[in-house]
Amino acid sequence: MENCLFCKIIAGDIPSTKVYEDDKVLAFRDINPQAPTHILVIPKEHIAGVDELNAENAAVVSHIFVKIAEIAKQEGLSGGYRVVSNIGEDGGQTVRHLHFHILGGKKLHEGMA
Ligand code: 5GP
Ligand code: ZN
Repeated sequence: MENCLFCKIIAGDIPSTKVYEDDKVLAFRDINPQAPTHILVIPKEHIAGVDELNAENAAVVSHIFVKIAEIAKQEGLSGGYRVVSNIGEDGGQTVRHLHFHILGGKKLHEGMA
């Protein structure tokens, strides 16, 4: 997708601090961290958000969650962490490329919304 920020990060046109990469997914540090550890995990295939998942493209999500568990261990988040995916305008999604935030490294706020 031409005008997608995260597709540009995948292509290497915009630099990022990579945490993990394989042929299907990329994980990199959020530019504006909301917690001591704040990592974004994205599929390399452009999917706009959770609202665009379907039976044909959703297999990457289980792969992403396996990688989330591995990354969290690697980052030492043994006390726990939070995984968040914002969807659409009401959900506060600012980049329309599916991504999961890994937030941790401190005791997170209890509120969800
Ligand atoms: P959303 O608000 O869509 O759930 O999350 C988008 C996230 O992308 C935000 O946390 C924001 O800080 C992060 N972000 C936006 N632009 C960039 C960028 O150029 N590089 C990196 N590493 N993160 C970005
Ligand atoms: Zn994209």
